[in-house]
This record gives sequence, structure tokens and C-alpha cells, in this order.
Amino acid sequence: MGNVSFKISGKAYHSLKEHLFPGDGKEAVALAICGRGEADSGDVILLVHNVVMIPYEQCEIREHNFIKWSTELLTPHLVQAVKNNMAIVKIHSHPTSYNEFSQTDDRSDIELFDSIYGWMDNEKLHGSIVMLPDGSMFGRIVKPDLSFEPLKRISVVGDEILFWDQDRKDVKERMFSKRTQQTFGLHTSNLLGRLKIGVIGCSGTGSPTIEQLSRLGVGSLVLVDPDRVEEKNLNRILNASMHDAKKNKYKVEVLKKAIQEIGLGTEVITFNRNLYDGVQIVNYLAQCDVLFGCVDSVDGRHLLNQIASFYLIPYFDIGVKIIADGDGGIDQICGTVHYIQPGGSSLMTRGLYTGEDLRAAGLFRTNKKEYEDQKKSGYIVNITVDSPAVISINMLISSIGVNEFLARLHPFRYDPNGNFAITRISITDGYTQYDSDGESDKYLQRFVGRGDMKPMLNMPELK
Ligand SMILES: [Zn+2]
Repeated sequence: MGNVSFKISGKAYHSLKEHLFPGDGKEAVALAICGRGEADSGDVILLVHNVVMIPYEQCEIREHNFIKWSTELLTPHLVQAVKNNMAIVKIHSHPTSYNEFSQTDDRSDIELFDSIYGWMDNEKLHGSIVMLPDGSMFGRIVKPDLSFEPLKRISVVGDEILFWDQDRKDVKERMFSKRTQQTFGLHTSNLLGRLKIGVIGCSGTGSPTIEQLSRLGVGSLVLVDPDRVEEKNLNRILNASMHDAKKNKYKVEVLKKAIQEIGLGTEVITFNRNLYDGVQIVNYLAQCDVLFGCVDSVDGRHLLNQIASFYLIPYFDIGVKIIADGDGGIDQICGTVHYIQPGGSSLMTRGLYTGEDLRAAGLFRTNKKEYEDQKKSGYIVNITVDSPAVISINMLISSIGVNEFLARLHPFRYDPNGNFAITRISITDGYTQYDSDGESDKYLQRFVGRGDMKPMLNMPELK
């Protein structure tokens, strides 16, 4: 059996916490219906799709250290869970701050999950979690033989990104990260060492993002980019050389080698393919703790936003735009960092692109000739390739993206993180503007925490 962890969106977490601690000092309980993200390695993430609060008045007993409720309340949700192959996670509170499962918990979990496994037609895992008054959580899975095993990690993806790891001693103090530690403390510094971060796009904004993440001591990086280094890239890709361009090396391989030569122990996994090339890459990214999108194609950004919602992953989208006449006349230089959280607004509802843009990008990717024909007839919007790009601008916007990530992991701003869902910078106009999240994406809301399903991400084009 691989590691099992648990993820919940910030929105669901806050309403759960409110329900579990109503202020009367008595225990309360809820059920999370969870999608699953199953990796080839055997690791599984339980992803909260929706939360069913058990009403206080429907509990037979509620005490400060005991709760009893009728499992009949569970039946309609079990039917749904069986149909969609989802997991059930019981979550209850310990208002006394008792930070272990009690013997009463053991008995009631055995009884509950015995009945749950009776309903299921497979032996996939379910779990049980306790929340303490400070909002922290610990938990375990209940196996089909009704034995227990701790959850490896519990995380919340909201305005803040929270982690509670079962085993926190695997990274020792690292000398190279001493100065980072002086800023963020040992806890955050060690946490960075336990994270797996996906960076999609390894060019102008991707390579400085990767450089920063590896020097911050991130434990493992997943790099995705189908392109090879060309001479025209050398004005901006960190660690890429004329030699790499002449040898026609893949960008991901050049960056992997550079990170390994830095020698800070970062594990690097590479995919020299397009995001849309099959479900394997998506499957791999679904296991990441954080995603950075450093691509300019709207279909790439769209796909990343879908992965982030289905698999509850915080997503930082980094974009740069230069409008120039090619002859030194500059109209506009601007950049944007979007922070996307599950259950919130999306790049599409924020107006970054339309369905029409997506159609054009999809056709451009899959059938260039058909795209050219339609463009000539005026049936499709224009896709820009080989846009102007300058290293100093790319690095600035990339840094803002990485700082945004750090602020979510270790809040340090005077204003709440919720105010910073979008950062817009115009260098030509001389302003920086911040915006909060705005309205939820109604389509994606239905799939928050849905995890693995067929077709994957509800996108039939992913074969
Ligand atoms: Zn308990």
C-alpha cells in the first residue's frame, strides 16, 4: 500500500470548522465525500468533493468528549458514493484538544466503516479525521480489515495553503537554506523540502521560477515542456547555453542538469512532451502539492486550471505581455500573476480567454493546416507565436509569482491573502494593482475534488 493523504479546499474547510466548533464545547461530526487521485506508485489522495454536516439535533448524544449519531443519516450519501466510486471520510471534533484517537473513537470507527465497506463493491480505502480547536487535523485510514493506518498528509488549499504531515522529521536542518530559514523559520523551510511542485513551461518565466524554487529548497520538481533549446531562446532561459542550442537539447533536460549541478538534493522529474499528450502527465501533475503555469498558450493554462480544481491543487499562473512594433516602438509591457484556488473563480471567468480562443488554440495544437485554412477564411481567432520577450521582465513577473506562493504558505502581508488573487503590473503605465477572487466558476464548482473519472477531467480530448 502506498501513502494516503487528504485534501480539502479552503472554503469547505472553513464551513467544516464552523460546524465542528459551534461554541458549546461539545463534539460535532461531518462526513466528507471524496474523489480519489490514484498514482501509479500506489499513493492515493482523498479529495473532498462535498461535506455533509450531521445536524446537532440529529445526534443522539453530544458531550464534550463523546458523540453518538445514527448512521442511517449516511444512507443517501453512500448510494451516491458507491455510484461515483468515492471515499467517505468521517470528521469529528475534539473540543478538549485531546490530540489522539480515543478508544471510543476506535470502537465507533470500526462499527461505522464495517457498515461502509458492506455497501461498497470494492476495497478502496476510507478514512477518519479529528479536528482540534486550533483548526489542525490528524487522521487515519480505515482498511477493509478494519485496521487503522495514519494519513501521511492532510492539507487545505485556500487563501492559505496548510499542511499537517504525519512524519515531519525526514528533512534535517539544511545549511544552504539557513538564510531562507532566518526569514521564514525552520518549519516553513522544512515544509518546502517536503513539497512536490509542478512547473509547466520551462522558458522565459518557467526557468527563473524553477531556479527560485530549487534554491528555496523545494524537495521535488516536476518539469513539463515539449520544446528544445534554440538560439532564439538564449536571451532568457536561465542555465541554457549556445552549446545546448547547437545540440538541440530539450529544455527540461537542460534545467534538470542545472538543478542537479547546484546539488541541493532537489529531486527532478521531467516530461519533454505537451500537456495534452495523454493522461500520464496529467496523472503525474495531479499528485503535486502546487502547480506553476508558465506557458503562453490558453489551452495549456485552461488544462492546468482544470487539474487544479479536480485535484485540489493551488495554482499560480504567470503571464507576461509585451506589445511592440518590432522596431523599438513599445506600446505596452505588462504582467499578471493569478492565484487560483479550488471552488473559486477560474482563469476563464476572470476573462483571460474565451471558448473561441480555446477552440483556436486546440486547432492550432492538433491540426496546423486546418487552423491556417480557417484563419484565412476568418473563421478563427489569431494565435500569436514568437511574441517579443525580455529576460528582465520575465524574471520580475516570475518573482512576483514565487513570492505569492510564499505568502500563501507562510502569510507575511499586513492585508489578508484574499485581497491578492490577482496581481497586475504595467511597467509602461507604472502601476501595480491587486484584486480579490470574485465569483466562482459554476462549471468547475461541480468538479471540485472530483479526482479520477472517465473521461479524465471530463475532457474527452485527453486520450
Ligand atoms: Zn473522538
